[in-house]
Amino acid sequence: MQQRVMKAWWDSSHLAGGNATYIEEMYELYLEDAQNVSEEWREVFDKLPKLDGVEVESKHSAVRDQFRTLAALGPAARAGSSAPQTGSVSDEKQVKVLQLINAYRFRGHQHANLDPLELWKQPRVRDLELSHHNLSESDFDTTFNVGSYAIGKESMPLGELFKSLNRTYCGSIGTEYMHITDTEQKRWVQQRIESVQAKPEISREEKISLLQGLVAADGMEKYLGAKFPGAKRFSLEGGDSLVPMLKSLISHAGTKGAKEVVVGMAHRGRLNVLVNVLGKNPSVLFDEFAGNHDDSLGAGDVKYHAGYSSDYATPGGNLHLALAFNPSHLEIVNPVVIGSVRARLDRRGCEDGSMVLPITIHGDSAIAGQGVVQETFNMSQTRGFKVGGTVRIVINNQVGFTTSKTEDTRSTQYCTDIAKMVQAPIFHVNADDPEAVLFVTKLALDYRNQFKRDVVIDLVCYRRHGHNEADEPNATQPLMYQKIKKHPVPRKLYADQLIAQGTIDAHEVDKLVADYRAALDHGACVVEEWRPMTEHSVDWTPYLGHDWDVKYDGSISVEKIKQLGERLIAFPEDHKLHSRVAKLYQDRKAMVAGDKALDWGMAENLAYASIVDTGDNIRMTGQDSGRGTFFHRHAVLHNQTDGSDYMPLQHISPDQGTMEIYDSVLSEAAVLAFEFGYATAEPGCLTIWEAQFGDFANGAQVVIDQFLSSGEAKWGRLCGLTMLLPHGYEGQGPEHSSARLERFLQMSADHNWQVCVPSTPAQVFNMLRRQTVRPMRKPLIVMSPKSLLRHPLATSSMEELSEGVFHNVIDEIDNISPSKVKRVVMCSGKVYYDLLEQRRKNDQDDVAIVRIEQLYPFPHEEMGQIASKYKTAKDWVWCQEEPQNQGAWYCSQHHFWSSLPQNATLTYAGRQASASPAVGYISVHNQQQKDLVDDALTVK
Ligand code: AMP
Repeated sequence: MQQRVMKAWWDSSHLAGGNATYIEEMYELYLEDAQNVSEEWREVFDKLPKLDGVEVESKHSAVRDQFRTLAALGPAARAGSSAPQTGSVSDEKQVKVLQLINAYRFRGHQHANLDPLELWKQPRVRDLELSHHNLSESDFDTTFNVGSYAIGKESMPLGELFKSLNRTYCGSIGTEYMHITDTEQKRWVQQRIESVQAKPEISREEKISLLQGLVAADGMEKYLGAKFPGAKRFSLEGGDSLVPMLKSLISHAGTKGAKEVVVGMAHRGRLNVLVNVLGKNPSVLFDEFAGNHDDSLGAGDVKYHAGYSSDYATPGGNLHLALAFNPSHLEIVNPVVIGSVRARLDRRGCEDGSMVLPITIHGDSAIAGQGVVQETFNMSQTRGFKVGGTVRIVINNQVGFTTSKTEDTRSTQYCTDIAKMVQAPIFHVNADDPEAVLFVTKLALDYRNQFKRDVVIDLVCYRRHGHNEADEPNATQPLMYQKIKKHPVPRKLYADQLIAQGTIDAHEVDKLVADYRAALDHGACVVEEWRPMTEHSVDWTPYLGHDWDVKYDGSISVEKIKQLGERLIAFPEDHKLHSRVAKLYQDRKAMVAGDKALDWGMAENLAYASIVDTGDNIRMTGQDSGRGTFFHRHAVLHNQTDGSDYMPLQHISPDQGTMEIYDSVLSEAAVLAFEFGYATAEPGCLTIWEAQFGDFANGAQVVIDQFLSSGEAKWGRLCGLTMLLPHGYEGQGPEHSSARLERFLQMSADHNWQVCVPSTPAQVFNMLRRQTVRPMRKPLIVMSPKSLLRHPLATSSMEELSEGVFHNVIDEIDNISPSKVKRVVMCSGKVYYDLLEQRRKNDQDDVAIVRIEQLYPFPHEEMGQIASKYKTAKDWVWCQEEPQNQGAWYCSQHHFWSSLPQNATLTYAGRQASASPAVGYISVHNQQQKDLVDDALTVK
């Protein structure tokens, strides 16, 4: 039989790769224990040439090679077959039956009944036809072994098996899981689906609860539609199942031990979810429709972007529920949610993700179209970003605004295909079958909890109205909307089904509908499970209501700094450093001993040490953060002998806070959004994102615009995130010179964040400490240095660090008499050192150089004091390296003017306006740099 089985297998046109996988898996099981497989397969495998000394890892490939060898043996080998017989069943048919099962597992979803509108044109999948496997209805009465088909029987008549396969794989659920290479996961999904033929019994109570969810979803939209006709609400109608789905997901999560659930979703259905899942008071929503608003949220946001927090009662106890605030940029909220979840998990000390569940809700066009989705999938299993899996739900209404043709919206079969990159199982489900929805919901959560990985539910539905209620969808989707018009709402379909089954009668259904409407009229919370908030894990009140100049004590003794320095340079003796790193640590040793001034890298590390030493936590991520792009940080030491890591910052003191530094995936948007989510959920952690070069932040511009700059103004959400953006004109060309300071300054208003350009090690030390010690939580945007990291003048003493003050402005440091000063040059950042060196060379005493270290909020008070010192100087200059249309000149000029003494003039010394951030030629760069410095120092 061996050769015949192999020939049948090899000659089959159906998914040879898939069969190979299947047979390999059987062989894997056989290798573990021969009793794991049926007798027929045992005989086949017993006869395979033995693999002496084959390692477990090489099993797959080794066996594949053997199979190929077998297939290539040719007629002579096959002629010599000594096939064992299996009673009345022909061996070849038996193999074909196993292939049929395999075909359904692979491709059954392509024939599943997923589209409530029945508009999908399904391809004919020949593999799912009996004839393709040389089987026919005449074999229906013959009993075959069903291999690993997890129905609980070893064998079945083909007729019964065929029916079962269709029920399991081609009903209201289309399961994609055979792309998962991990056998355990694959078997797990298989077992769960096949054992109940994708349709478990569900209790009357659950059925009624599903119906109630649909009544609520439908009732809410009808109510809003009637009360506020034409108002935008981004109705859920068509995807009504989302409401009972989310409720069962949250409830199930609670029974499985979750303490918090964080949800991210776009506008579609959001109002419905707010009221019917999170328990937002309907009267508050109605007030919002009527134009009233909550003044505490500053500028505010439209109601379908609003977040909400509540507690929710589950059979496993109450849990905390948060719906994240969301801008309209699709999908970008998802990494924010996942970051928020990571913060909550860290706070709870939960490493496996079991205590906090992220749920992200996507649109069908957006999940396929937006690159940030790929970024979050890529992050999902990485050390610094994993959260034990995310349950991702797609509200697949088959239209993206007005675009519905799949040849326009994507290049993949399903909108969810991107999830295959992490081998997530994907459950497509017909949203008009709420019981199927319930089944896949629990299954998805169990998978996430079991394997700590992402899982996707594709809720295939439709959109009853246009993109919003004022839109006319018939203009672009005429056929679809003719169908939708005639299609009964999900509540009616399910109610009719339950009435036909005798589960409920028509009067009871009417009463459910009337009761829900009455509850809305009454205006009180309509979610039975809603509880007032007590389960959230952090208190933000100490951080509320502080201005950026709130008084704080950041001082730290020199003694303490030395002690921290000692800890920073300590590492195990057998941890062999690279010679360049060893040299750097030798230098750090000299700095601690007081034989050398402190450089940037050391001061920065000391800041972190001082912060964790007092029990605060630090999380830093970014491209190359462990080492530092410019070889300066070396917070993570790599052992040259065995590649192991050691982080001195994790060994500062026994009761220290946590210190985490992760080199991030090579993405900006998702990583920065993740860190925003982390920082808005955790005020007790200095959260830092570092760009490899400052301009890399361009890739995360949407996060900067829509969350960081405006999150507090729109949503009242504080965020202490620090962004380190290497910036400076050093001849590295257009892309690695500028962190686009001007963009941050242009978005500066309402004291929304701080934009700093520290120029000394003591300044970076105290800036980072200020960000933690001060109770205020606002984003800190830092133009961080490159060449300054090693500039001989950019050093500080321990005393300067110990002072504990970040100077928003630094006055002239040389001994220059103010009365002699004719010109005051104001500047920020690295150009200061160019100016200083040149002025010293020129031996000038008529120019004072003032550094503005915080450009926003502008330090008017400190600048005023300095201006009064140089009040006789009428010639003030702003000097910058950036082209005139960039940097601080245009955006901060009004602040500079307001700081000047009376009758003083303000001029500009810097590069000419330019479309590109910097020139590419080093000689041109050098000339420009020289000119701007000369210009700034030339007293007119
Ligand atoms: P959450 O755990 O996100 O549901 O938040 C619970 C409560 O904490 C919210 O209702 C807010 O009152 C408060 N809160 C959460 N995050 C922030 C934040 N970033 N800034 C200010 N208050 C917050």
